[in-house]
Amino acid sequence: MKRISIPRAELHTHLGGAVDPPILWSLAHYQGIKLPSKDYWDFEDLVTIDENEKNKNIKELHNRFYYWTELIQSSPYAVEMSVKSIIGGGYRKCNLVLQELRFNPMFRNHKGKKDLDHIIMAAVRGMDEAVLEYPKVKAGIILMMDRTLSLRENKIILEKAIKYKNRGVIGIDLAGPQKRDFNIRDYKSLFDKAKNYGLGTTIHTGEEGSLAEMRYIVNEINPDRIGHGLLCVKDKNLMKQIVKNDIVLETCVSSNLRNSKVKNLTEMGKIIKTYLDNNIKFTINTDGPEMYRTNIFKEQELLRKAGILTPRQIKQCNDWAFEASFIPHNTYS
Ligand SMILES: [Zn+2]
Repeated sequence: MKRISIPRAELHTHLGGAVDPPILWSLAHYQGIKLPSKDYWDFEDLVTIDENEKNKNIKELHNRFYYWTELIQSSPYAVEMSVKSIIGGGYRKCNLVLQELRFNPMFRNHKGKKDLDHIIMAAVRGMDEAVLEYPKVKAGIILMMDRTLSLRENKIILEKAIKYKNRGVIGIDLAGPQKRDFNIRDYKSLFDKAKNYGLGTTIHTGEEGSLAEMRYIVNEINPDRIGHGLLCVKDKNLMKQIVKNDIVLETCVSSNLRNSKVKNLTEMGKIIKTYLDNNIKFTINTDGPEMYRTNIFKEQELLRKAGILTPRQIKQCNDWAFEASFIPHNTYS
């Protein structure tokens, strides 16, 4: 019997944070990857961050956690199995009927030793298998560029997103910690090109980094959506521009708490109240359900129980997620 009946949409999930640890464990063993421990429970601790743990920043998140999941997912087989398991799991656990999944193919090709096209097509295969198994689900892949890669490398990722647009790639993202020689202004033309080819655009900003970068992204790049965007609450004009441009913020509460971007739920409540007071559209997401030991349903419950959102407001966020999705879909019931 289906236990959770409300159809839900998830727009912000990273492949590296979304695979159930026992599946990752088996994938690591299947490929003969040397892990720091022979015991499963040590491994589970290695790839998950529970409520009592905190990363100092996004860099620590990448160095401590994504290092392992990206290493294990660095083969076509592992990518295919990972994508398949996430989409099926989302439907079973949360009735996710619309699921967008994002990853950086260049962090899964052993620094050029594996072919990027094979990695991307493996993700498409995994997605196709999942929607055959779960026909009520619609899914799509967002390819990610990264601030720590060169402009040349990121241009290659964009070209791949364009190439596979009709095969299940629905959008392009930019993520990663700030790096000294990174300049967001170099990326306007890339996002313009993505839009011209009909790709959805989203950018991680306002999570860390500067308000100046977020202002440039909102005013000049004008993506469809922004990953996190927390910093905008400090700038009334920026919030007005977000509303004017109809940009939707992808909010990831547990992730922000575990990565020290937001101190506690009280602070999160203030941020979300500011969004509501300023008519900013936002969606509830996990960022990485298995890594943060959460899921969309749990995130919604967290906000409801903390008195941050009412059930009606949660429904509104879910409706916004369906509206803002890059996946072509009709309506849902
Ligand atoms: Zn993210």
